[in-house]
Amino acid sequence: MVPALLRYNEITIPRIEPEDVLIKVAYEAICVTDFEILDGTLGYYKDGSAKYPIILGHKSSGRITQVGSKVRSFQKCDWSNIKAHTHTN
Ligand SMILES: [Zn+2]
Repeated sequence: MVPALLRYNEITIPRIEPEDVLIKVAYEAICVTDFEILDGTLGYYKDGSAKYPIILGHKSSGRITQVGSKVRSFQKCDWSNIKAHTHTN
């Protein structure tokens, strides 16, 4: 399966839960996994457990713009990095 058209889309800013922070991404790394996602060779996509479309990238950094009411270890304007492996459909 060759799924990928890469395009830029504006998305709605997600609403955060009490245990979440929202980060405005400033930098994004692209690694070999992203290329495997693009060409459909990554196992999760080959076996159907992950589906397209996706928001590409899983190593980001940026500033925290919103902090959930239960978050104690971060505050607004902190720099943070992300290593995420979450799939959305
Ligand atoms: Zn990676």
